[in-house]
Amino acid sequence: MSNPRSEYTQRLAALRERFDGELPGRLQALQQSLTQATDTPDAMTLALLGKQAHMLAGTAASFGHAELAQVLALVEALALDVTDAQDAPRIAQLRQLAPRLVVTGTPAAEPQQLPPAPRTLIQNQLDGQRLLVIEDETSYAEELRLQLEYFGYRVDLHHDGDTLEAALRAAPYDAVVLDMRLGADKRTSAEIVAEMSQQPQLPPIVFMSYYSDFFTRLAAVRAGGRSYLAKPVDVPTLVDTIEQITGRAAVEALRVMIVDDSPSLSELHAAQLQAGGMVTRVINDPFAVAGALQEFFPDLVLLDINMPDCNGMELAAVIRQQVEYLSLPIVFCSTEARIQPLLPQILATGDDYLVKPLQADLLVAKVAGLASRYRALRSMMTRDSLTQCLNHTRIKEAVSLELERARRESGAFSVAMLDIDHFKDINDNFGHPVGDRVIKNLAHLLRQRLRKSDLIGRYGGEEFLVVLPGAEPAAAAQLMEQMRVSFGLLRHLDGDHELHATFSCGIAGYPQSAQHAEALIELADNGVYDAKRGGRNRIVCR
Ligand code: GH3
Ligand code: MG
Ligand code: MG
Repeated sequence: MSNPRSEYTQRLAALRERFDGELPGRLQALQQSLTQATDTPDAMTLALLGKQAHMLAGTAASFGHAELAQVLALVEALALDVTDAQDAPRIAQLRQLAPRLVVTGTPAAEPQQLPPAPRTLIQNQLDGQRLLVIEDETSYAEELRLQLEYFGYRVDLHHDGDTLEAALRAAPYDAVVLDMRLGADKRTSAEIVAEMSQQPQLPPIVFMSYYSDFFTRLAAVRAGGRSYLAKPVDVPTLVDTIEQITGRAAVEALRVMIVDDSPSLSELHAAQLQAGGMVTRVINDPFAVAGALQEFFPDLVLLDINMPDCNGMELAAVIRQQVEYLSLPIVFCSTEARIQPLLPQILATGDDYLVKPLQADLLVAKVAGLASRYRALRSMMTRDSLTQCLNHTRIKEAVSLELERARRESGAFSVAMLDIDHFKDINDNFGHPVGDRVIKNLAHLLRQRLRKSDLIGRYGGEEFLVVLPGAEPAAAAQLMEQMRVSFGLLRHLDGDHELHATFSCGIAGYPQSAQHAEALIELADNGVYDAKRGGRNRIVCR
């Protein structure tokens, strides 16, 4: 895996070099503007000079040219202050600044301070998460491994706590499942972990134990354990726990749109946010924002206030006119002087701001905080609370969007409708909570086993709709066949009762089966009906 931190340092150096290379030319142009504006002062040339100086000032400050930035800010202030051509003293002052529009000294070389990079936000796209399980009872361990693998996890099994450190060094794990008492070891697992807990890259640990007394639990907490489960572990509960602590549900990187007319400044901010684990899209032309919003689905917009043609405040108002972006967070940025008078307006709309030059650590912290809160809120509106899958409305919308994309790109995709068999009997025989558990398990399984680009929705009570971009019906059927087999092997209940469940599945594909979203879903649903009539626990392609 690449190291985002050194990548950041390299990118920063490259941006810096590019900026420094362009700087003399840009300063020369600015000097010309200044000469023109002071020789024949009129409102337009002065305003232009002010804008030019403003733009360069922000970037210069961000790249460490503090002194030059001050001179530029002075030019900007004076140029905008001259109210009429007869303002001789200010024009003279301006003229005096011309020779100071040069590069002085070397810019501050220290890269801007970065906050600690968030731990492993980047997930393997195709495979399930990787788990390290350390459990000394071999047959129990094998059973645990098998069940976890049905859910789609990749499991490495060890029986000896002393191998923990070496194992963690050998491969990246998303989580560790660790038995508290490993018989053969002199040290307890908690002691082994406690001795390692100085390591920053220690993945989250789930302890399990037959003991549930306070002191054993306390030892687990002190060793940094994120969770503690009583043995024999209920596998679905373990899967739930792993999903929670590895943040699988919210693992997709935050998306930030950067709107700034200065390419170098926006690139710099993009590099900083990327180093903080975020995905960015840079827009230098305010008129391109509307289209980009629909494509990029940002969790936040970082918006420069001073832009030609359409300023940040106006742009924000336009964005807000669209209902779907009403709660999209916007962080305005500009210089202290520019932002001050706008503060009441910015804060009144519930938005936030940052003062240029932006401090990298503040930028990352503020943007990540606001963006993740927005994502959590949006998730509540778009996801089903039991399974965290897309809700009925969203998954139908996803089919339409995928269809549009497939049409545009002459691509293919399939939809699969899944319906759990005899689910009413499960409720009747084991109770509603167990039924819920079975529904959740199917969601877990699909999430672990399908690709990140596949979309999973809870279509109804015990019905799921899956959208598989790029998959022909035959490929989709093959994939769902794997799901069918794995699901049938899952044990949903520990203890005295063993419960297995199955599902029936119908598949329809674009463009083979139908040309419209509604029709595709209906065909997949018909497929389910046929599968039920054919004896259930099977897949039918339409
Ligand atoms: P078939 O094999 O034909 O699909 O039979 P079935 O029993 O699965 O189908 P049916 O549609 O008759 O029953 C579905 C049941 O699912 C009825 C409903 O009470 C139950 N159900 C719906 N939503 C939930 C839920 O969120 N939790 C639980 N536990 N049960 C639910
Ligand atoms: Mg049903
Ligand atoms: Mg059913």
